[in-house]
Amino acid sequence: MLSIREALDLMLPSFVPVGREVVPLTAALGRVLAQDLVARHDLPELDNSAMDGYALRADDARRVDVELPVQGESRAGGGAPPALAPGHVMRIFTGAPVPAGADTVVMQENTQALRDPARVVIHALPKRGAHVRQRGSDLRAGDLVLTRGAGLGPGEIGLLAAQDHGSVEVFRRPRVALLTTGDELRELDQPARPGSIVNSNAHALAAAIVSAGGEAHVLATARDELLEITARIREGLGFDLLLCVGGVSVGDYDLVERALIAAGVTPTFHKVAIKPGKPLLFGTFGAVPVLGLPGNPVSALVTFEVFVRPGILRMLGHAAPFPWPIRVELADAYEHSPGRTELARASLSVRGERFVAQLHSRQGSGSLPSLVGVDALVILPADRTSFPAGTGLWALRPSDPPRSTEPPFHD
Ligand code: AMP
Ligand code: MG
Repeated sequence: MLSIREALDLMLPSFVPVGREVVPLTAALGRVLAQDLVARHDLPELDNSAMDGYALRADDARRVDVELPVQGESRAGGGAPPALAPGHVMRIFTGAPVPAGADTVVMQENTQALRDPARVVIHALPKRGAHVRQRGSDLRAGDLVLTRGAGLGPGEIGLLAAQDHGSVEVFRRPRVALLTTGDELRELDQPARPGSIVNSNAHALAAAIVSAGGEAHVLATARDELLEITARIREGLGFDLLLCVGGVSVGDYDLVERALIAAGVTPTFHKVAIKPGKPLLFGTFGAVPVLGLPGNPVSALVTFEVFVRPGILRMLGHAAPFPWPIRVELADAYEHSPGRTELARASLSVRGERFVAQLHSRQGSGSLPSLVGVDALVILPADRTSFPAGTGLWALRPSDPPRSTEPPFHD
């Protein structure tokens, strides 16, 4: 059986950006740049003050408690001030242009203002250039601001706005088809039949797709019938990515793999040494990657986090689709059978300088309440069986941003 790492290495090359589009900056959060962007102007555009205080020539303040006359003021938004006369200071406020002639700002806290006529006593001598933000010290017009592949968070968006980039070319969101299968499923608005269950995966996985940055397209649920599943799969193959859920195991009514083959999908692997989620299936139809996730709600969401989220992030243009793993200590001893890497749902607390992971008491793959309040998935390696309390392990927080090119799985 493939390890998680081997499975990821096999499937991720099939997940590539699916196109580009220009979006307004207001819609760019979480997207990835498809173009290099250069500075449209110097940043800052003018020499300006980093403090409230007085602008002066450093050469005019060479003796503590020197007293200098005040020549007007410069304030943010107040336009360009006149040049500073030698031997004078100018009242200045944060963000205001530094007048020609001045080279230094002394902060207000180090001065004392006198009136009639306006003068100022300088108690602490500033270093030449102090508190002046020089024109172009952050960026020069024409410099690269952000390069293709940069993820856009609030900081990046602020920088682009400051450079008058009101719209940007980003990679398109992948359109993800979601196909749930199973005779027992009913939709929320359908009456209950004996033995039926609500198709909760359609909701959980559509939310997961959107949270990863994809567009979720929920297809009509297919019954456990080869022709019906095959027809729906054909529909799903028109999207950028197809996720089938349920029917991928070894039971008599698990028909998804046969249906995928009938629809022309080339299987790459079936079964991964992961718990929960062993029956995971992956294949391709031309450029369209196809995954079959097990139907148990916990297995479906855990395999989504491990395999589908990084795939969607790559389609969005993220070259580093994995979150940084965090180091945790187990609150209590835990045992598992060897052979598969287990991802255990846990809540976290901080003890001293460490994260302590409390594994959820019900690790069964069908328990929906165990999906509530999950802070982290703790990675329990396949080659160990017992984990005493205090064991240090790696864990993934599904909400962490993508930053790493390396999957946090080593076996
Ligand atoms: P399967 O993967 O089809 O063998 O299903 C495994 C378990 O997950 C069974 O108990 C199914 O009833 C349940 N299940 C399958 N699909 C869904 C779904 N879409 N929503 C909720 N539970 C499901
Ligand atoms: Mg089934």
